Amino acid sequence: MSYRLLDGRKLSAQILSEVTLGVSDVKVMLGRSPSLSLISVGDDPSSTVYVRNKERTAASVGILAQTFRLPSKSTEIEVKAIIKQLNSDSSCHGIIVQLPLPKHIAAGSVLSSIDPFKDVDGLHPLNMGFLASGNPRFIPATPGGIRQMLLRTNNAPSGKHVVIIGRSDIVGRPLFQLLSAKIEGGDATVTLCHSLTRELPEICRLADVIIVAIGKPNFLTGDMVSDGVVAIDVGINRVNAPEVKRGYRLVGDIDFATVSEKASAISKVPGGVGPMTVAMLLSNTLEAAKMSYQGS
Ligand code: NAD
Repeated sequence: MSYRLLDGRKLSAQILSEVTLGVSDVKVMLGRSPSLSLISVGDDPSSTVYVRNKERTAASVGILAQTFRLPSKSTEIEVKAIIKQLNSDSSCHGIIVQLPLPKHIAAGSVLSSIDPFKDVDGLHPLNMGFLASGNPRFIPATPGGIRQMLLRTNNAPSGKHVVIIGRSDIVGRPLFQLLSAKIEGGDATVTLCHSLTRELPEICRLADVIIVAIGKPNFLTGDMVSDGVVAIDVGINRVNAPEVKRGYRLVGDIDFATVSEKASAISKVPGGVGPMTVAMLLSNTLEAAKMSYQGS
């Protein structure tokens, strides 16, 4: 079967050009650019790359981005003190805490201290509640990006059986809420699988759309899917590759070679969900800036 590539770079470029237009309007309304503050604790190499990428992409659409880089030994109180200052700063529209945080800091408590109107990652309990009730305000960026990837490629999930593997708080669980909600880009029948799910391959073979977010290189193989499946790979895994200069390659959770033989559409890593995530984060920041103007 010949597949269509779900090209995250191309689709995210469309979203970013829409965000750029929105930013121009907001500049007129607010008299200044939307702004995003990132907080990064420690020196995890992947997080460093992700934060730099967010800063660069924000600048490309006219969003002001500033990053607070804290040493890994920083305390929860120190992180919350920065959040408190940003919460009361009317020139800051969006706040992101780069995850994962060092183990001695309780991520849930830190995320709950963000002003819910500036919570552009959508991970504050109030925003998770809005999503769970079917009326999302800020949709977490990766689930939001996956929904856009499906909508913008004529693969709307309405009425289809979507199987999600992975139940993290940032991807699997909010994605389950989003795709099962009675909204555009929702209305799917969704099965959420995890490490204790029995008969996983049998469940996967029932999927019209399969989304994998577990962090295991090449986990989903061709024998686990049915012909015509739409396959979306969220995983980002570093695997040793001594033949390349940096010594590693990035691969996803889907074995592209075998799944693409059966898929009608499939995303790749890199160049799939990753760029969509950054685009949706900036789209949420734009929405936060609009809300600050409307005082809602
Ligand atoms: P996580 O690492 O917090 O949790 C892993 C999940 O996978 C758990 O729910 C676990 O139950 C499930 N799991 C593990 N082994 C399994 C197995 N054998 N069978 C079924 N389920 C299994 O999840 P996360 O934070 O969502 O990250 C998952 C992957 O997605 C990672 O590679 C991460 O780097 C990547 N990620 C990518 C983006 C992006 O923008 N592309 C965003 C977030 C996460």
